[in-house]
Amino acid sequence: MSVGVLALQGDFREHAAVLRNLGAEVELIRRPEELSRINGLVIPGGESSVMDKLARAFGLAEPLAGAVRSGLPVYGTCAGLIMLADRVIDGITGQQTIGGLDIAVRRNAFGSQTLSFETDLDVPVLGASPVHAVFIRAPVVETVGPRARALARLSDGRCVAVEQDNLLGTSFHPEITGEFRFHEYFLQKVAAANFGH
Ligand code: GLN
Repeated sequence: MSVGVLALQGDFREHAAVLRNLGAEVELIRRPEELSRINGLVIPGGESSVMDKLARAFGLAEPLAGAVRSGLPVYGTCAGLIMLADRVIDGITGQQTIGGLDIAVRRNAFGSQTLSFETDLDVPVLGASPVHAVFIRAPVVETVGPRARALARLSDGRCVAVEQDNLLGTSFHPEITGEFRFHEYFLQKVAAANFGH
């Protein structure tokens, strides 16, 4: 099972380390032709507007959107979640996404006072013990459309983790806290989808 990590920008090395720790074979993805070798893809945190520009400049945006449509399992964290959203609120002018998740995300949703914070989240699909979540200039999922479902919410009810068929997204960064359960959950999705075989 080979899992790609989109390596245009952002914290792709941290994701690659977690996935390797869990026994996955990891490929860093920078070119369209590399997509044909993978069974799943992680889109890291970083800056979604820059990632979008680079994805288009490298000719990756269209092939990525096509792969998502044809069922490639993809997990996006933070900027990666924004890249997977069908709708973005407060994007920069002209910002585009790969899309696939039936959600609207608001970029930088926590304002200047709490650009970064940590909290414990209840994530029922990952079991009883809470997930320690780090939010860094994070988005929130403002609207969860009928095809997507919320996996976790802040205490004020705002949605910060979603799933839809082959897609998984979190506003926060499990890859930097030693929290492996989201990646494990994603690897189960990758195994179940058996994409590309
Ligand atoms: N604020 C960033 C963006 O808009 C996301 C931050 C992150 O990935 N930690 O893309």
